[in-house]
Amino acid sequence: MTRDYQLFINGEFVPAVSGETFESINPYNQEVVACFARGKDADIDKAVKAARKAFEEGPWSRLSGQERCDYIINLADKISEKSKELLPFEVADSGSTFKKAKGDFWLAANQLKYFGHLATTTKFEEILEDLSKPGVSKNYLLREPIGVCGQIIPWNFPLMMAIWKLGPALAAGCTVVLKPAEETPLSAMELAKLIQEVGFPPGVVNIVTGYGEEAGAALVAHPNVDKVAFTGSTEIGRHIMSEAACNMKRVTLECGGKSANIILEDADPDIAIDGSLYAAFFHGGQCCTAGSRLLIPASQKEQWVEQLVERARQIQLGNPMDKNTDLGPLVSQKQLNRVLSYIEKGKSEGAKLLLGGQKPSSEGLEKGFFVEPTIFGEVNNKMTIAQEEIFGPVLSIIPYQTEAEAVQIANDSIYGLAGGVWGRDTERAFAMAKQLRTGTVWVNEYHLISEKAPFGGYKQSGIGREMGPESLYEYTETKHIYVDELGSREKKFWYDTLIKPSSYSATTS
Ligand code: ADP
Repeated sequence: MTRDYQLFINGEFVPAVSGETFESINPYNQEVVACFARGKDADIDKAVKAARKAFEEGPWSRLSGQERCDYIINLADKISEKSKELLPFEVADSGSTFKKAKGDFWLAANQLKYFGHLATTTKFEEILEDLSKPGVSKNYLLREPIGVCGQIIPWNFPLMMAIWKLGPALAAGCTVVLKPAEETPLSAMELAKLIQEVGFPPGVVNIVTGYGEEAGAALVAHPNVDKVAFTGSTEIGRHIMSEAACNMKRVTLECGGKSANIILEDADPDIAIDGSLYAAFFHGGQCCTAGSRLLIPASQKEQWVEQLVERARQIQLGNPMDKNTDLGPLVSQKQLNRVLSYIEKGKSEGAKLLLGGQKPSSEGLEKGFFVEPTIFGEVNNKMTIAQEEIFGPVLSIIPYQTEAEAVQIANDSIYGLAGGVWGRDTERAFAMAKQLRTGTVWVNEYHLISEKAPFGGYKQSGIGREMGPESLYEYTETKHIYVDELGSREKKFWYDTLIKPSSYSATTS
């Protein structure tokens, strides 16, 4: 039996105004997972009104940091309690492997706790010291919630992306309208149930399922939304940025990547080989941080390539619910077609196909949107597969002659989200990490994102930062309040400048 979900608006579950629905399907077997209300303009308008009311009149932005923290921590605890029960749904809805989804739930609950605590550790009001000019005064710096935030998330980490968005916004005192990806709305709607159970005031969190060009576009265009936070493709990110200009909405964008992962000559093969495959193939490469360009020293080309291909052959494709599966299907037929077309492009532009390159024909995988782990050698950084984000299990190996050339190749990209450097001499690796124009670099590791460290992109990988204290600042406006301490007209800054004492006579009547 299919599960049915309605929109979550003003603390209640309601059908879409149009009454229309859409389905999500399991990328492993193409069975319908659940049916969702198809939110459009009218639903977004209702949700924004509820969020506006909750912001202007409701208690949320006026609660103490500790009170907001308590709600958020309660929600995090509920996620932990429910994770066993909800995990199979996340797997069915997104094609995430059991191993990956388990990690997602654990991380989501912990990250949400961190965001909750930001509500108590952030200084929402500070005194600015030593401001002797322009006058004698006491000065306050206030961090105030931006207001109503529209949040649009992708399908690769459905629950976790919802938490990255909701956590800092709620901690800051904002109210939100969240739109999950149309491919994977299930865990966000289960989250809505938990939000209701925790008893968040109505309208603080609204979740509207629907398509990007309908519900998403309506949210971005809505004149009563103060900020849009988006994670997704760079193409849609650019579009959202220009649409948000209509009423100068604040934007944070976490977009695509084409991250370079650099193996130095002294790298330890025991960790660099598996680490680089993890960088490229984790979640089938459907990660914005994927290390999809692997730069190896030309002098050691044969040995690295041979070991990489050998180890990649051992990656287990299979039913994502099976605890031994390493690699599940891609999220959709559309994504499968997209990845296969990039593979064709790679071949036609002269890259050497070393492994994979097609949909597997093995028994049990027929209905799934699988692509074999694919490795191209002899890739030139100018090729399409080295420049464009593929979002699939496709690794491009690019040999480099010198470390300076490796840096130049790594930075020759419109993206700047992440990167990796592998080397035994960590000082040397660190020196190279500093030269990469990206928001995160891992040395002898990959994909590890800490909730306490800022995460986001340089260049066209995005604007703003998630995680760390910065994540909350992105949901605040800063205000300066100047309180004069002189109190007497003669001592005022303007007394003998603008208003000339000779010609001025104060009227007291
Ligand atoms: P992908 O190409 O990987 O599906 P997208 O960037 O298209 O990634 O989608 C990420 C999120 O952006 C999804 O929630 C999607 O519904 C939403 N989206 C897509 N197009 C638009 C749009 N024109 N306006 C607002 N949101 C959109």
